[in-house]
Amino acid sequence: MIATIVSPRLLLVGGTAVTQVGEVLAKLGLSRPFVVTDPFLASSGTVERVLGPLRARGIDPPVFSDTVPDPTDTVVEAGVKRLAGSDADCLIGFGGGSPMDTAKAMAILAAGGGKMRDWKVPAAADMAALPIIAIPTTAGTGSEATRFTVVTDTERNEKMLIAGLAALPAAAIVDHTLTHSVPPRTTADTGIDSLTHALEAYVSKRANPYSDAMALRAMALIARNLRTAYADPRNEAAREAMMLGATLAGLAFSNSSVALVHGISRPIGAHFHVAHGLSNAMLLPTVTRFSLNAALPRYAEAARAMGVARAEDDDAAAGARLIVELDALNRDLAVPSPRSYGLDERRWNDLLPLMADQALASGSPANNPRVPTKEEIIALYREAWG
Ligand code: NAD
Repeated sequence: MIATIVSPRLLLVGGTAVTQVGEVLAKLGLSRPFVVTDPFLASSGTVERVLGPLRARGIDPPVFSDTVPDPTDTVVEAGVKRLAGSDADCLIGFGGGSPMDTAKAMAILAAGGGKMRDWKVPAAADMAALPIIAIPTTAGTGSEATRFTVVTDTERNEKMLIAGLAALPAAAIVDHTLTHSVPPRTTADTGIDSLTHALEAYVSKRANPYSDAMALRAMALIARNLRTAYADPRNEAAREAMMLGATLAGLAFSNSSVALVHGISRPIGAHFHVAHGLSNAMLLPTVTRFSLNAALPRYAEAARAMGVARAEDDDAAAGARLIVELDALNRDLAVPSPRSYGLDERRWNDLLPLMADQALASGSPANNPRVPTKEEIIALYREAWG
């Protein structure tokens, strides 16, 4: 098998790295950024963490802060209009996955034209486009290091996966001090999202030696630090480990793939507006139970990397420990089921066939070690209901 490995040209990793955003631009030969962020990060002043160092170098960029959680095609189009009125030579995506993905989608639409849905997988958004500097403020999506963006088609209520080199940031600035203000619920949701990225990348049919290395290290960091970051938001060491783990998990799945959890999670986000990480968390134990025996040695190795199984445990014992840990993690991080979260049960049941079709069409379930039928996906949704 030939593995094609991609990663940002430049990765700055460490506390206060964001102060060097001007140097990063200069290294890449860029000088006219256009900043994309969200309304909270703009109004709370957090965005000053990137604007301050830029102004100190005489750069006062336009700021588009109308992004929404789970970016939509309409917001991306509005962003592209604003971008067209600027003379920007790059985009800075500052925030969680939503602003970073909006910046990526803007770059693709500005360069490729058409509608957002024209670029959804299996199309390849590989065109030359404005370079992106991604600066995450959550430890979760890994979008700063991936060749993906996820955008909701508002006409069809579909969360579309869009992939290509135009979505791969030229540089990522990974500064865990930006995450100290993330509240516990978002810390939990985004943290389980990154654990899911690493685990899915590791058991994916598209795993390779590069993605394996990234995934195993990511799982080790995340599994040992997520509970601490959740309970003690100011714990510097836990925040640092989580941030690095999330970026490594991004590198892992960007060069392997996500799989069944993400495939069936996106329709929940699209139809019920459950936060991305939370819908993954609701599904992770159920889907892992379903998939376990199809890749038992890999799940067992994941459990050992996470520190929940011992080196001497055989694969069956280690796999069983992984399932116990995923259930315990959800309990400790107060992850609700779709039912206890308050989703409308009748709407849930009515939508299951459509959600299963959308999941299968995304391609992600095909990467799972056990590839489900439509009926099996519906059964998984029912089992996860709670
Ligand atoms: P998000 O970006 O929607 O942010 C969640 C909330 O956290 C928002 O209210 C935001 O204002 C707040 N927040 C962000 N940083 C904060 C900080 N430092 N302090 C306090 N509050 C802060 O959530 P997310 O989970 O980071 O991103 C989710 C999106 O990313 C989804 O659309 C998902 O589909 C996408 N995603 C993309 C990829 C990819 O590779 N491109 C991978 C996984 C997920």
